[in-house]
Amino acid sequence: MDWKLHLILSFILYFAIILISPLSLAYSVQALIILIFSSLLPDLDHPKSLIRIAIFAVVFYLLMVFVIIQDLALEVKILTIVILLILTYYSYKHLPLKHRGKHSLHLWRYPFLFTAVFSVLFAIANINISLILFILIGYGSHLFADRIKKF
Ligand SMILES: [Zn+2]
Repeated sequence: MDWKLHLILSFILYFAIILISPLSLAYSVQALIILIFSSLLPDLDHPKSLIRIAIFAVVFYLLMVFVIIQDLALEVKILTIVILLILTYYSYKHLPLKHRGKHSLHLWRYPFLFTAVFSVLFAIANINISLILFILIGYGSHLFADRIKKF
């Protein structure tokens, strides 16, 4: 679960891809972000991974912003945010995933599952559908790197 290794591998893959097929700046920035995110995503199943902290921090931040923009009394907003903080922290601590085994995200079905799920989300959000390839590449590179590290 060395996120730095996966990050370096993502950059190497990214530069190889843009050398082979030059992309527009906007597209290549989106591709890089998706590649890095998906190459770190499998370690969401590790209780101390950077990606787990980052995802839960973003989720809590978005929930907090959602509460703040509501037309509620200040005390209600503060109470709601405190409850959301407790629930987010509880979910963070008790995510039903294991770093290895059948409850792990380190299984080859998940790059394909996440790619399928994100292709629907990208279609709904009107995001260039070809960007889902970078989910497959990023997630796949993580699984390959972890497998190579074992030997
Ligand atoms: Zn891993």
